[in-house]
Amino acid sequence: MTRTKVALVGIGKIALDQHVPALNASSDWELAATVSRSGKVDGIPAFTDFATFLAERPDIPVVSLCMPPVPRYAYAEAALAAGRHVMLEKPPGATLAEVHALEAMAISKGLTLYATWHSRMAHAVAPAKAWLADKTIRQAHITWREDVRKWHPGQDWVFQPGGMGVFDPGINALSILTEILPRPVHLTRATLEFPSNRQTPIAAQLTFSGNVTADFDWRQEGPQTWDIDIQTDRGHLALRMGGNVLEIDGKPSAGENTIMGEYPALYARMADLVRTGTSDVDLSPMVHVADALTLGERLTTDAFDF
Ligand code: NAP
Repeated sequence: MTRTKVALVGIGKIALDQHVPALNASSDWELAATVSRSGKVDGIPAFTDFATFLAERPDIPVVSLCMPPVPRYAYAEAALAAGRHVMLEKPPGATLAEVHALEAMAISKGLTLYATWHSRMAHAVAPAKAWLADKTIRQAHITWREDVRKWHPGQDWVFQPGGMGVFDPGINALSILTEILPRPVHLTRATLEFPSNRQTPIAAQLTFSGNVTADFDWRQEGPQTWDIDIQTDRGHLALRMGGNVLEIDGKPSAGENTIMGEYPALYARMADLVRTGTSDVDLSPMVHVADALTLGERLTTDAFDF
């Protein structure tokens, strides 16, 4: 089978941790170029300027954008204008409106736009959705507590406007929630803790309709927690390990305790979307984040430095 050429743009932590291994293991894709001001991948032609890449490599029909959300729109717009299919890291943009604009542009040009949510590809998300489909949800709680120094070492952009702070990981939980619940919920209350020297929250407590709550915290050292617990009319569902392990009534039921299946599944989905000439842009996780930042009560907490 012929492999489709793809360029990776923004060679940093997630490109090297996940995108490059997923592409190397895929029979759908050939990593044909990188574009990054300083990052590189050994053995792959490297560009430092996106306009030069677009002009010099018309043979590469797909770009995968791995830089932080604020600069991503300009790259996505230029790529679509140049007739390339585009895959967006999560969160798909800095604002909802800019992603709607990209979607309209992709549709008008007959190109694929894929707003990825890697956590939706976690091993136990599909079985959890299937199990919940015919149940009544009584109560649900998300606990998403991790160490920002471990997962975003020195990345000041997460605390700058548009970086979303603790919602950068929290949106992964919301991408699972919006996928598995049989009926949508909406945010009704939020408390946001901003470090005194930063522009985005380091912790957030959210309340949604339907008796759903969430606790996001970026200050957890030691063991990390990415859990969703859901009490239904017919039993208790728990998703552990960021959606990769499913427990029903306390007993392991499905999944695998590894995150390494998520990006291969994203690239398989992108291959399908390009083959079928379709897009996949679901902004429901980001709507909850925007609502929390709109409605949230703001508290000031201790200054934070990496
Ligand atoms: P990162 O390492 O800080 O940034 C990735 C690369 O983007 C940088 O190496 C940089 O490459 C480029 N970049 C940064 N600022 C830029 C700018 N203003 N203009 C153009 N390029 C810029 O971040 P990351 O952790 O990989 O995260 C990137 C995205 O992946 C985020 O949306 C994040 O939510 C998502 N993600 C991250 C993780 C994680 O564990 N870190 C997990 C899943 C998803 P050059 O300097 O070489 O141009």
